[in-house]
Amino acid sequence: MAIDLIRGKLTMEFAWNAGRAGTVFLEHLSRRQIVGSRCGRCRRVSVPPKSFCPECLGRTEIPVPLSPTGVIETATHHTSTATTFALIRLDGADTSLLHYYLGDTPPTPGTRVRAVWAETPDLSIHALRGFEAEA
Ligand SMILES: [Zn+2]
Repeated sequence: MAIDLIRGKLTMEFAWNAGRAGTVFLEHLSRRQIVGSRCGRCRRVSVPPKSFCPECLGRTEIPVPLSPTGVIETATHHTSTATTFALIRLDGADTSLLHYYLGDTPPTPGTRVRAVWAETPDLSIHALRGFEAEA
């Protein structure tokens, strides 16, 4: 007999050191700017920024300004909370950013989106509320 689905709920407290790259990312988000990193060896642009390239381990340049617009690569919708998470490939980036999609219905891959900022951005990922479809 195969088990198709395991249901559960996980709640945990944690502390996480943002590190140099994460700190720069959050500082820029609080100023309504999205930045990434560029590898000095293979030129890959990662967002959120990385201290070292995840592809070739080359040293990176931080910050690299990125567009607040991009495209949905994939999304998943949680029906009980009406929450949609999406992987967004920002224009100019080679990796995807996981964040909320703020539309009423789940987006299809390829949907053009733009950043939606919090009214009073703070030093957290929530400075960026998520993304909505471009008009
Ligand atoms: Zn690289």
